[in-house]
Amino acid sequence: MAQGVMVVAELFNGSFKKVSLEALSKGKALADSLGESLVAVVMGAAVSEPAKELAKYGADLIVVAQDADLEGYRPCQQHNVLVDIINDKAPRMVLFGATRQGKELSANVSATLDVGLAQECLDLFIEDQKLVAKRTLFGGKIIATVDIEGDTQLATIRPNVFEITEATGAGVVEECAVNLGTVNVTLIEEKVEVSSKIELTEADYIVSGGRAMDGPDFSILENLAATLGGAVGASRNAVDAGWRPQTDQVGQTGKVVSPKLYIACGISGAMQHIAGMSTSDVIVAINNDPDALIFKTSDYSIVDDLFDVVPAITEEIKKL
Ligand code: FAD
Repeated sequence: MAQGVMVVAELFNGSFKKVSLEALSKGKALADSLGESLVAVVMGAAVSEPAKELAKYGADLIVVAQDADLEGYRPCQQHNVLVDIINDKAPRMVLFGATRQGKELSANVSATLDVGLAQECLDLFIEDQKLVAKRTLFGGKIIATVDIEGDTQLATIRPNVFEITEATGAGVVEECAVNLGTVNVTLIEEKVEVSSKIELTEADYIVSGGRAMDGPDFSILENLAATLGGAVGASRNAVDAGWRPQTDQVGQTGKVVSPKLYIACGISGAMQHIAGMSTSDVIVAINNDPDALIFKTSDYSIVDDLFDVVPAITEEIKKL
C-alpha cells in the first residue's frame, strides 16, 4: 500500500533550488498530518554530500541517485531512474518544484505510471487520506480545487508560494542503483545561463517592463529592482523586440512568478501576461492609459508616464 510523502529536490550549481526547499517544507507538513515519513530524492553526478542537508527540512530518508548522465537538465534520464525509485518506495504522493525540469519530469512520470498530476499548485492539503490541490485555471482567472487520481498522486508547486521551515528528520541517506534505461533523446549542446541575477521565479520583488520601454534601455527598471533587492522581468513584446532575454519573460509562454510585489511598467495586461503573475501578493501597475486592462488585476494603479514614476519611486524607496 502506498505510504509516505516523496519530494524530488533539484540541485543547481551545488545548491538546492529554493522551490525544492519549499516543496520539502510542504511535504513535511503533509507527512506529519498523515503520521507518515518524508522521503527526499536527489539525482545528479555527485550529490550525496549536498543531499545530507535535506535532513534539516524534515527528510527522514534521502534517496540519492548518482550518475554523470543525471546531472543538469535530464528529464528523460531522471524519469527512468525516478520511476524505479517510486516503484520501489511506493509513496502516496510525490512533489516537485514547478521548474522547467520539474514540470517536464513530473509530466513524464505521470504518463508512465498512469497517475494524476496537478501542475503549479498554490495549496495542497489532505482530505480522506488523499492529496487535494488548489491551482489556477484559464490563465489565472479562477483558482480550482482539484482531486488527483491514482495511488501515487503527483503535484508540482509554484515557486514562492510555500514557506521554508526547518524541521528535524532522521536524514538516513540511501544510495540507489541507477538504471538509466532507454533514453531516446540525444543531448547535442547545453547552454547554461551564467548570471549573478536573482532568478525570476525566486525573486520577492519583480519590476517588469513592456513595449512602452521603447528600446533595450531598462536601466530605470534595473535601478528600482536593485533598490528593492529584486529582479527585472518583461512582457513578451519586450522580449520579441530583442530588448530582454527570453529568460526574463513573464507569462503563459514565459515564467510563472509569485513575488511579494510585482510592478508592471508599461504593460497592457493581456491575459497571456496576467497568467504569469496574477498570484503575486501585491501588484502595482504603471500605465498612462486609464483604461489599460492591467488595472483590472492590479492592487495599486498609477495612471502616469512610467519614465516619470519609476525614478520617483526609486528615489523615495532609497530614502527609507
Ligand atoms: P502592449 O500591449 O503594446 O502594451 C503597452 C502598454 O504600455 C500599453 O497599455 C500602453 O498604454 C502603455 N504605455 C505606453 N507608453 C507608456 C508610458 N510612457 N508610461 C506608461 N505606460 C505606457 N505576453 C506576455 O507578456 N507573456 C507571455 O508569456 C505571452 N505569451 C503569449 C502566448 C501566445 C500564444 C500569444 C498569442 C500571446 C502571448 N503574449 C504573451 C502576448 C500578449 O498577448 C501581449 O501581446 C503582450 O503581453 C503585450 O505586451 P505589452 O503589454 O508589453 O505591450
